[in-house]
Amino acid sequence: MVNNNIQIRENHIKLPKLGFVKFANSREVKGKILNITISRTNTYKYYISICVDTEIEMMPRATGEIGIDLGLKDYLVTSDGLPVPNPKYFRKYEKQLGKAQRRLSKKNKGSKNYNKEKLKVALLHEKIAHTRRDFLHKLSTAIVAENQTIVVEGLKPGNMIKNKRLSKSIADASWGIFLDMLEYKSLWYDRKYIKIHTFFPSSQLCSSCGYQNKNMKKLHIRTWECPICGEFHHRDENAAKNIKAEGLRVAFKTIADI
Ligand SMILES: [Zn+2]
Repeated sequence: MVNNNIQIRENHIKLPKLGFVKFANSREVKGKILNITISRTNTYKYYISICVDTEIEMMPRATGEIGIDLGLKDYLVTSDGLPVPNPKYFRKYEKQLGKAQRRLSKKNKGSKNYNKEKLKVALLHEKIAHTRRDFLHKLSTAIVAENQTIVVEGLKPGNMIKNKRLSKSIADASWGIFLDMLEYKSLWYDRKYIKIHTFFPSSQLCSSCGYQNKNMKKLHIRTWECPICGEFHHRDENAAKNIKAEGLRVAFKTIADI
């Protein structure tokens, strides 16, 4: 815990030039401190990030294999048919943010009230980012803990943002951050992380017989019955099953090639 210039004693940290400074110690620092970065947010909060060289405690091997469909209605749906809904507070904060932004737009730029309102907007942005990050961390850790193989689909934001109604919930969902978390946690804990091709028609295929239903390009169709095998499908669960099967097929093919 000791570097020449940096020391941590309970809730005090010794910084170069400044000496001991009180700070909110959020977790025990393990390993050799390599460097620290101090930053100030536009909400006047100071953060210290401490970079350490440490061993990652391994998670035990898991048995699960999972396909994940990043949803529009839910945050995601798994190949086991489990939906993970978008947290309700996202919507709540978003409404508050909208109101605060409208109030801000009515103030005279540079006035005392303007600055006060501007800080409120920044605080709400900060709150949204924190709660979202917390949600994504918990969700990605839970998925990695339970599954040895994790299959996801490459993001296709270009296609989706064309639909204006969807763009807000997509921004909300921060899928990119989530996939990054799944990827590096899979690497830490020795999981197989597979990202299948963006153009794979995961929503259109029948996960039972493989029939392709082009009608499913229409995003509003939530359920369908396969005209060939008669299987009844929920859109997102069926897509998650196809994503899993495709991921396993690709992984198997790669191993066979070697
Ligand atoms: Zn079928």
